Amino acid sequence: MFATEFEYKKASSISEAIQLLSSNEGAKILAGGHSLLPMMKLRLARPTMVIDIGGIEEMRGISVENGTLRIGALTTHAQIADSHVVQEAAGILWETAYGIGDPQVRNRGTIGGNVSHADPASDLPTVLTVVDAKFTIQGQGGITRRGSRTVSAGDFFVGPFTTVLAENEVLTAIEIPVLAENQKAEYAKMAHPATSFAVVGAGVVLTVDNNNVCTAARVAVGGLTPTPTRGPSVEAALVGKELTDENIAAATALIDGDLGSDILGDIFASAEYRRAMAAIELKHAIFHATGLAHH
Ligand SMILES: Cc1cc2nc3c(=O)[nH]c(=O)nc-3n(C[C@H](O)[C@H](O)[C@H](O)COP(=O)(O)OP(=O)(O)OC[C@H]3O[C@@H](n4cnc5c(N)ncnc54)[C@H](O)[C@@H]3O)c2cc1C
Repeated sequence: MFATEFEYKKASSISEAIQLLSSNEGAKILAGGHSLLPMMKLRLARPTMVIDIGGIEEMRGISVENGTLRIGALTTHAQIADSHVVQEAAGILWETAYGIGDPQVRNRGTIGGNVSHADPASDLPTVLTVVDAKFTIQGQGGITRRGSRTVSAGDFFVGPFTTVLAENEVLTAIEIPVLAENQKAEYAKMAHPATSFAVVGAGVVLTVDNNNVCTAARVAVGGLTPTPTRGPSVEAALVGKELTDENIAAATALIDGDLGSDILGDIFASAEYRRAMAAIELKHAIFHATGLAHH
C-alpha cells in the first residue's frame, strides 16, 4: 500500500525542526525511517508533513564527559555497535546494538527513533531503563511552551507507541552514567527469528563486591509489558546475597510478582508464555553478567 499524501521538509537545525513541528499540525519527524515509513505504508500513520532531521549534525555523535556517556539522538545502531567509547562506557548498550535487526536496520535506525517510537518489542527501552538513562528533549513555544527538559528513561515511556514527547518536541540526546569497574551489566532476549525484535528481553546492572556479593541491583524486562518493567522484588532479593546459581534462580523467579496483569500476547507468543520466559531471560542476563554462563 502507498502512504497517504504528505509534504516533505528537510530541517537543518533543531530549532527549525521544532518550528516546523509547532506550526504544522499532524507533522512528524523522520529519523532513520525504519518504523515511520512502514507505519505510513500500512496507513497506521498519516502525517500531513514529514520533517527530515537526518541532516542535523548537532544531533549525532558519541562522547564521554564527567562520567556520563552522551549519544546524539540521530546516532545509528551501527555507529553505537562500532564505537569503542560505548564498548568501554556501557558495554550492555554496545552489545545490544549489535543484536538489533539486520545490517540495513542498524545502518538506518537511530537510538532516538527507536525510543521515540516506543515499540514494546524494541530492545533499547529496556536497556536504557535499566542503565537509568536520561533523555534530553527540546521544544519551544507552540503547543506546550516548553523549553529544554530532561526525562529519565523510567518516566519517558507511557504505553505502547506512546511517550511523554509532546507533538512539538524533539528528543535530541541520551545520557547514560558510565558503568563502574565493579558494575556488571547485560541484556538477554528471546529474539523473534525474523526480525530480532524482543519477544521477551531482560536487562540487569549489578554492583558486585570482591566476595561476589551483590551490593546494588537494577533489573528490567521488556517485550511482554506495555512499557519496560522494573523488578523491585528481584532487586531486593539479590542485594546482600552471593551471586550463586541458587540465589539467582530464587531472585529471578520473583519477577512474576512485579509484572502486573497487563501482559502482551500476539500470534508469535501468548501472554502466558511470555510471562514464563521473563524469569528465564532475567536469569540468562545475570548468568552472562556474572560469568556463570561460561561454567
Ligand atoms: C525489520 C526490522 C527489524 C527491527 N529489529 C529491531 C530489533 O531487533 N530491536 C530493536 O530494538 N529495534 C528493531 N527495529 C527498530 C529499529 O531499531 C529502529 O530503531 C526503529 O525502526 C526506529 O528508528 P528510526 O531512526 O528508523 O526512526 P523513524 O522510523 O524515523 O521514527 C520513528 C518514530 O519516532 C519519531 N522520532 C524519530 N526520531 C525522533 C526524535 N529525535 N525526536 C522525536 N521523535 C522522533 C518519528 O516521528 C516516528 O514517529 C527493527 C526495525 C525493522 C524495520
